[in-house]
Amino acid sequence: MEPATDIQRLPAPEKPARWVVPGRGLFEGLVVSGKNLVQSFYKKDRMTTVQYPEQKLEISPNFRNFPFLVYDGDSPAGLRCTACSICEKECPPQCIYIVLDRDENGKSLKRPKVFDIDISVCMNCGICSEVCPFDSIYMDGEYELADTDRFEGLLFGLDRLAKSADYHMKLRPAQATEVMERRKADEEKKKAAAAAKAAKAAKEKAEKEAKAQETPAEDGKEDA
Ligand code: SF4
Ligand code: SF4
Repeated sequence: MEPATDIQRLPAPEKPARWVVPGRGLFEGLVVSGKNLVQSFYKKDRMTTVQYPEQKLEISPNFRNFPFLVYDGDSPAGLRCTACSICEKECPPQCIYIVLDRDENGKSLKRPKVFDIDISVCMNCGICSEVCPFDSIYMDGEYELADTDRFEGLLFGLDRLAKSADYHMKLRPAQATEVMERRKADEEKKKAAAAAKAAKAAKEKAEKEAKAQETPAEDGKEDA
């Protein structure tokens, strides 16, 4: 009997027969190039270039560039950002700068007075948008941002960062819809909790008042 072997050796697969013709690879390459050239006149997916900036390619839904801040409603006054500074702390290259807005008594107004991002330093990682607990910061798809001023021109403040929730919806419909639905559900939960709290308080008040009305009558009985 033959000894058992760990590896069952299989015969090497036969190589497909191929004619060895000098210059065949070059010819095949030229055929592919020729096909692309001819088809580029009538097939859209063969058009590998466009006449930028007159023509622009549609960007991928997952393309991300620099962050922007979302506001609800028609004006940047509805900014969702509460200036909690979590994104500022988590940003790896530390290119976010936030100053909390306060009233004359020094009380927090829960909104940023200053919110700057140095886009010449930002590395497009998206961590700020992942850590934000207020659905306030998302990655933008805008890419025509070249500027001749290396410093002021690439330091984006609230005026350039704040964009509407409608803009977010147009840019990333799936993400914006998920966020809107979640925020709506949270809002309804808060409203229901507030209504339940108010109802409980009203019930307790009514019970207290009823007790207070009963007490003098009982006192009167005792006096008699
Ligand atoms: S995308 Fe990354 S680098 Fe840019 S601001 Fe956000 S956390 Fe910082
Ligand atoms: S963008 Fe979000 S994480 Fe950053 S400060 Fe505003 S609320 Fe906080």
